Amino acid sequence: MDFYKTILNYKDDILKNLDELMQIPSIASDGTNNAEKSLDYVLDLAKSMGFTTRKIGNIAGHAEYGYGEELSAVLTHTDVVPCGEGWDFPPYKLTRKDGMLYGRGIADDKGSAIIALYCLKAIKDSGLIGKRRLRVIFGCAEEIGMLDMKEYFKQEQIPDMSFTPDSEYGICNVEKGILQLCIKDKNKNNSIISEFSSGEVVNAVPDKAIATINKHIPDINYNGCNNTVEYINNKTKLIFNGIASHSCMLENGLNSAAHLIKCLSYKISSNENHKLLSFINDFIGLELYGDTMGIKCSDNISGDLTLNVGYVKINNNESKVGIDIRYPVKYNGDEIFRKIKSNAEKYNLTTEITSHLKPLYIDENKYIISLLNKSYKTVMGSDAKLYSTGGGTYARTLHNNGVAFGPVFQGENSRMHNSNECLNEEKFFLHAQICCEAMKNMFCD
Ligand SMILES: [Zn+2]
Repeated sequence: MDFYKTILNYKDDILKNLDELMQIPSIASDGTNNAEKSLDYVLDLAKSMGFTTRKIGNIAGHAEYGYGEELSAVLTHTDVVPCGEGWDFPPYKLTRKDGMLYGRGIADDKGSAIIALYCLKAIKDSGLIGKRRLRVIFGCAEEIGMLDMKEYFKQEQIPDMSFTPDSEYGICNVEKGILQLCIKDKNKNNSIISEFSSGEVVNAVPDKAIATINKHIPDINYNGCNNTVEYINNKTKLIFNGIASHSCMLENGLNSAAHLIKCLSYKISSNENHKLLSFINDFIGLELYGDTMGIKCSDNISGDLTLNVGYVKINNNESKVGIDIRYPVKYNGDEIFRKIKSNAEKYNLTTEITSHLKPLYIDENKYIISLLNKSYKTVMGSDAKLYSTGGGTYARTLHNNGVAFGPVFQGENSRMHNSNECLNEEKFFLHAQICCEAMKNMFCD
């Protein structure tokens, strides 16, 4: 029998342990120790399977099998993003229905965590002799900036080869740079816009934007984005409804803030407008690729630079906008920053970097790529395509020794970070087989 099929013998145990893990609402940023509890859960499970384990602080750990100087690893995380609203199933447990698996973390990334651990068990139970040690590494602060792996690798060996099943198939060997900025207006404004509010985070397209203008503005007539108008005393309140999306998939969204700012630029004069909003309108407008900002660029490996206005906050206390830029691997993020900063200075605005993840690029001739492709082909019968992402995974922490690989198949909508997160059960166990084959190859080849 093909070795990778042995993982299917553990199907019932996998689903049982996955349900238990999903019952821990392990949101890393909520001030509880639930994220750590989810880490303890997988480490205890690993111990009960007979593996040596190590916990690093309260945010990471691993289970290990085998001997040797060299090390291979699979990296997964047990923390999740908050469940939000709109669920048709209990978010914090596993629901099996009509061939689907539902629940927070099934696709990102608790499903992969339990599967990787059972693959390690399948390898141990089979008695295979390896050439090197094999680890499953778990973090529980991935969703809040990956501090877990930064801490982990301060104390632990960088694997010689590794993958993280926290994205899509085929093999992601390119991750764009992610530059996040906050642009502020610290000056006193005489604008008639007393309030503007849109978005909570920089890495999403805001689906709602609200502005209050100290003036009666008749006939709004704006077509680009769904909107409503309210008149209170002598004020106009505009509410725009766009479409939310992740910053690495801007084309799927409709930016409510950018449209509201555009609409305002038609309806009020430039000296009535807020400096910050004029800047956004003049240098960004509705553009997604940084044309007018002068940062438009593209390369044949990773595609176009994208620019998202993630949040805009203007009130009595502050005036700021958050910008998220995903730039191609051949370009320099610091130069992009300097360009934006100098544009913002023309409007007397200050710009600071809130986060900067440098790009990742792993040459397609590297051994790990051919090993993963061979593993994929053994199970699926076809090659795993190389692809590039604007998202960020643990692969960035692996010093060019690892890539993202699975667990979601192309064309499958896992609703990651959304309500009703789900995976097709059959495909979930197809991923389990690919993961098993790849781990065996990383252990023995
Ligand atoms: Zn993830």
